[in-house]
Formats: sequence, structure tokens, C-alpha cells
Amino acid sequence: MIVAADGNVSARLGPDRILVTPTGVCKGFLAPEDLVVTDMDGVPVRSGVKCSTEIAMHVVCYRHRPDIKAVVHAHPPTAVAFSVAGRVLEPHVLPEVVVTLGIVPTLPYTDPGSYEVPDAVGPAIENCEALILEFHGALAVGDSVMSAYFKLEKVEHAAHILLMAHQLGGIRMLSREAILKLQETQKRVGITIGLPPAYRQGYTGAAEDLDQEALIAQVTAAVIRQLQAGSR
Ligand SMILES: [Zn+2]
Repeated sequence: MIVAADGNVSARLGPDRILVTPTGVCKGFLAPEDLVVTDMDGVPVRSGVKCSTEIAMHVVCYRHRPDIKAVVHAHPPTAVAFSVAGRVLEPHVLPEVVVTLGIVPTLPYTDPGSYEVPDAVGPAIENCEALILEFHGALAVGDSVMSAYFKLEKVEHAAHILLMAHQLGGIRMLSREAILKLQETQKRVGITIGLPPAYRQGYTGAAEDLDQEALIAQVTAAVIRQLQAGSR
């Protein structure tokens, strides 16, 4: 997921405290005392320590998602390659991903370390569990560090499968019926990840008449509209 000193991990300690990895340290060599405690503005509570330069991206996730307790950011290569190639991660292909992650949107490029990133991530993370930052990396949230990390792992694994499917001739999507059954599973296990209108119960539009490319375009446009509306 990362090389050298890439990536950052944080956990919510309390109403005004976040524990976050320090800047410029390989995560394989971290000691407990290296971790930095900050307030909810991302400012270290102890002077002389430096937390991740991407702390603002974490803070905004905790602000927009009171339900989460951890944020993991990394640079998963296959998922990032999709964004470099200008492709989104096609939704509605892998049942496990449909149920546990829903749509993983790709946010348009923003300057890493700038306030453009949290401004884009905040509204977006309200509607998803993981997202891709174009040309940069990916981010996932969860009720623990491991659950957020596992979501990131699922994103990269899904991207790898989709890449191989593309190489083998293209992507096929699950049928509308299959998606509706998965939606029932979501309800049963209490996951409230949104599905696009064409897949909602009672939808009377012509979902069956759409070809796969048109459906992907429709879903992508809906996600982008939602992100743009949220960032205004
Ligand atoms: Zn990064």
C-alpha cells in the first residue's frame, strides 16, 4: 500500500483528541512514542513534535463522520493507476464490494497537503467508506484502524481484479436482480451504503435498457454531481 515514508494513519482518542502517525517516518519502524496526539484542528498538543502533513484530511473525516474512529491513507498502486488512466473503479461488479464498500468515488486531483484536499474529502466521505484521490492515493474510514485498513485493502484488491478483467477483454456488471438481492443483504446486516436510482426498489425507469457503458457513465455522473453539490 505504501513505500518509504508514504501514507498516514489516525485514530480518534476522544471528543478533542486524535492519535496520528508522525511525518517522514517509515511505518515499519514506528515506535509507540513516535505517534502524535493532536486536537481536533490537527495541532499537536505537545510542542516540538510533527504529525503527518496530511492531518487536515484526517480531521475533516472525523468532523464529517461522527460515527468513525479511524482513518487510513495510503497509495495503493492499482487503485491509483485507475485514476492516472482516467478510469473510475467500476461499481456493481464484485458482490463483496457492493455490500461492504458500495461505490468508491474518485475525487478530482487536488494539491496534496493543501486545503483543497480536505475541502474535497469532507463532503465526499459522508457518502462513502473509501475514496480514491486522483493521481495520488486512497483513503478509507472505519470504526477501528484495522477496519479502515481492511477497506483500503478491499479497494486495492477490487482494482486488481478489475484491471485483470479489463486485460481479459472487459468488465461485465452484475444484473439488476443480483444487485437488488445484495441490497437486501445490506439491509439485513445493517449496512446503509447507497445504491444508484436505477437499482433502487420500485424504480420504474429503463435500467434494463441501459448498456454497461451507459450505466457506468450514469453512475459516475451521479457520484460527481453529489460530490460537487457537497463541496459548494
Ligand atoms: Zn498521500
